[in-house]
Amino acid sequence: MDLPKQKRIAIIGAGFSGMMTAIHLVKNNIKAEIYLFDSNPQIGRGVAYAPYSKKQLLNVVAGKMSAFPEHPNHFVDWVLKQPSHKALDRNMIVNAFLPRDLYGQYLEKVWEAANQEAVYSGIKIQIVQEKVIQLDYNNDTSSILTASGLDMLFDACVIATGNQLPGNPNIDDASFYNSKYYFQNPWDLKAVKGISGNAVLILGNGLTMVDTVIGLQEQGFSGKIISLSPNGFNILPHRHNGMVYEQLSKELTGLDNLKDLVTLVYSHVRLVRTFGLTAEPIIDALRPHVQRFWQQFSIEEKKIFMKKYRHLWGVARHRIPMHIHDKIQRLQIEGRLQILAGKIQNLKEKENSVEVFYTNKEDLLSSFKVSRVINCTGPESDFDKLHQHFLKGAKEKGILVQDELKLGIQTNVADYRIRNEKGKPQAGLYTLGANLRGELWESTAVNEIRQQSKDLALIISNSL
Ligand SMILES: Cc1cc2nc3c(=O)[nH]c(=O)nc-3n(C[C@H](O)[C@H](O)[C@H](O)COP(=O)(O)OP(=O)(O)OC[C@H]3O[C@@H](n4cnc5c(N)ncnc54)[C@H](O)[C@@H]3O)c2cc1C
Repeated sequence: MDLPKQKRIAIIGAGFSGMMTAIHLVKNNIKAEIYLFDSNPQIGRGVAYAPYSKKQLLNVVAGKMSAFPEHPNHFVDWVLKQPSHKALDRNMIVNAFLPRDLYGQYLEKVWEAANQEAVYSGIKIQIVQEKVIQLDYNNDTSSILTASGLDMLFDACVIATGNQLPGNPNIDDASFYNSKYYFQNPWDLKAVKGISGNAVLILGNGLTMVDTVIGLQEQGFSGKIISLSPNGFNILPHRHNGMVYEQLSKELTGLDNLKDLVTLVYSHVRLVRTFGLTAEPIIDALRPHVQRFWQQFSIEEKKIFMKKYRHLWGVARHRIPMHIHDKIQRLQIEGRLQILAGKIQNLKEKENSVEVFYTNKEDLLSSFKVSRVINCTGPESDFDKLHQHFLKGAKEKGILVQDELKLGIQTNVADYRIRNEKGKPQAGLYTLGANLRGELWESTAVNEIRQQSKDLALIISNSL
């Protein structure tokens, strides 16, 4: 098979990252055909912006959710033109946590406009509504095979696969994971619908746990919800919305190691506490510097971070709107939601229910019964554990390598080129978004990937 004369670009995954990369290629007036591969028909929405409930909200204020870094008000301007929102005050919208579905509608409009631009410029965009099952790479050319057997060659290929489903936690008898009472995909409506028993176990207690609790309530589930996670931290609200803490940023200059960073951050946390404030404004001030620190840390420091601070960072960074937090608190007070700290040991199907065995922080084994288990433990990033996935195959073939912590794909972040097993960045093979977590740690939110997709599109445009 030979490459056609017209250059071809493949984008695997048409969530926000893939869609925005395609849009910027169009804006750059690329002289190439763009192929977007995704079995999900809703371009741009991915899991995040195709919620099963209109009540599920963005966890970032609208003012920070523009799809275009060069037009920071783009989303807010669009919202204010919608009949449902145009009577509202701009400042209120800028600081509001709007429905994720509304954001999905915005992305649809952004995509529509880009398609018109592509037609006008004579750029072909081909949507291939299929799953990619195999990736090969030879002589700077990528070969893609889809589930239906479509086999094509590309001059450039972007892996924009985002987050994977949560991995199954290790338990004594993994055959449970075939049970009809187990739901590995928490973003699927099926996970929260049609529950007959009176208790549900949610594995994990982050933002997805909150979405799932809201989903269960909306579906009329009135039984008890138990969330189990290693630390059982309480999820935090956005308490100081809009507050900017500038002092920390000034003192970060020149810092380059984890120990000094932790000492500095804790000293600021103690300081703001004397004013009755909590740590969130400090975490927000640190956030723009995280990628730089992560790139400077040694592998030992990264391991220490993962062991000692990862969960704390997760709690401080992943916060929820105040009124959702109130709802979660009310459910806890009423005893309808219980947040447990402990480690899952086994899950056993028993007489139309599931028996849950876990050890608490004192290592004591206990058990309770539920009628369903929903996995909200966060995306699996170890490709060896993925089931029949092209990323696993590409890794086995040496086309890509994972970082030592198996957080993502080893990539030359300066130009997004994926490194091969010899560490060499490969021509025409790129990734962005969640696959850069090993390189950057924070690489999944819109404010990060909108810039990455723009930069990557420019790199591809220049290289073709
Ligand atoms: C529930 C949820 C809520 C979020 N809320 C926010 C928020 O409010 N603000 C914010 O900034 N960020 C939020 N995020 C972060 C979010 O991940 C990003 O904003 C963004 O959606 C990521 O886009 P992506 O394209 O990188 O990944 P995804 O949206 O995951 O898209 C990846 C796409 O790749 C496709 N794909 C995967 N494998 C294959 C294959 N083999 N073949 C073909 N296609 C494939 C998938 O079908 C999917 O459509 C949220 C994330 C989640 C999960």
